[in-house]
Amino acid sequence: MRKKIVAGNWKMNKNLQEGVALAKELNGLLVADKPNCEVVICTPFIHLATVAGLINNEVLQLGAENCADKASGAYTGEVSAEMVKSTGAQYVILGHSERREYYNETPEILKEKVDLALANGLKILFCIGESLEQREANQQNEVCKAELEGSVFHLTPEQWANVVIAYEPIWAIGTGKTATSDQAEEIHAFIRSCVAEKYGQEVADNTSILYGGSCKGSNAPELFAKPNIDGGLIGGASLKASDFKEIIDAF
Ligand code: PEP
Repeated sequence: MRKKIVAGNWKMNKNLQEGVALAKELNGLLVADKPNCEVVICTPFIHLATVAGLINNEVLQLGAENCADKASGAYTGEVSAEMVKSTGAQYVILGHSERREYYNETPEILKEKVDLALANGLKILFCIGESLEQREANQQNEVCKAELEGSVFHLTPEQWANVVIAYEPIWAIGTGKTATSDQAEEIHAFIRSCVAEKYGQEVADNTSILYGGSCKGSNAPELFAKPNIDGGLIGGASLKASDFKEIIDAF
């Protein structure tokens, strides 16, 4: 059966000391009250090695928010998948709409990152989702399918076992607007049908598909109750341990 997952995306927030304090606090809450789902925090690169040393992997996993599209070498400022893995992290977020939009990450670049992340033993939280304009033109299904085809559908079924999909409608990220649970369920079911078409029903049934976009303690229970919503990728509400724990407690 597929995993239920709540993953936090800290984005470019928290200096090292603040990040360490947040990770410690969350780890303490989860050790005291074991979660009914896998919990992941994805932090800026600079936090990874320190946070890896202070969390209990039985209750809390760690991920990066990005990795380079090159293996190693003269790429000033970049951080490779191998480096991420060496910190003790297990996951990496790829395909986030902020990286696609602000850093011009194309499907081809993402494909390189996906391959390098998997080759280095990282699991991938791969984000897909439509803009407001695309939603208004009722293009959400074709946009999501094209994003899968462009960067992850070349993987073998064995590789696919290390991929988690996060459906994140761009119009719901950080805006306070959430997709209704019915809207989210409808497209999650469609995404699962695309996975089934590509890899077969059994693989699709084992694929975790998370919802992301202004998810918080108050709406998580309704979203997570839907049969095709296997958890959430959480931005803003992952920056405070008590807020994030409330979402985890929806399971
Ligand atoms: C995100 O960017 O992954 C996200 C879901 O952000 P927020 O929860 O703040 O909308």
